Amino acid sequence: MIQKLIHLSHKKSPWVLTYNSGGCNGCDIELLGLFNPRYDIERFGILQQASPRHADILICTGPVTKQTRPYLERIYEQIPAPKHVLVIGSCGCTGGIFKNAYNVLGGIDQVIPVDMYLPGCPCRPEAIFNAVTQLIEQI
Ligand code: SF4
Repeated sequence: MIQKLIHLSHKKSPWVLTYNSGGCNGCDIELLGLFNPRYDIERFGILQQASPRHADILICTGPVTKQTRPYLERIYEQIPAPKHVLVIGSCGCTGGIFKNAYNVLGGIDQVIPVDMYLPGCPCRPEAIFNAVTQLIEQI
């Protein structure tokens, strides 16, 4: 019974944490747009969280750099299971324009498991919203 309630809360009101592991901030600006009153994603029960310990979904932007790798790993480990990862932007998917730079390791999936990819440069809030709802359907 408790497990059913936990599953229902994940599906009906997932809390998301965002993390930029080294991009240009373009995707983050679009991502922040998703949480403003124009798109008002909270009406669907999706709430932005600052702490990984309270998050269900990790939304990552940007390629992983040598500098940000340990932080990304630590954040992922701190999110309680079941956890899901959505990568937005071409940089987070493959390394994008930063690929082959001396300090870039590549896409997010070089470090942590990824459930869904949303390529784009940058991704529009509508596309991010669509990806989040599709990910919720998979939960
Ligand atoms: S995908 Fe484009 S907008 Fe997003 S972080 Fe990379 S360069 Fe910036």
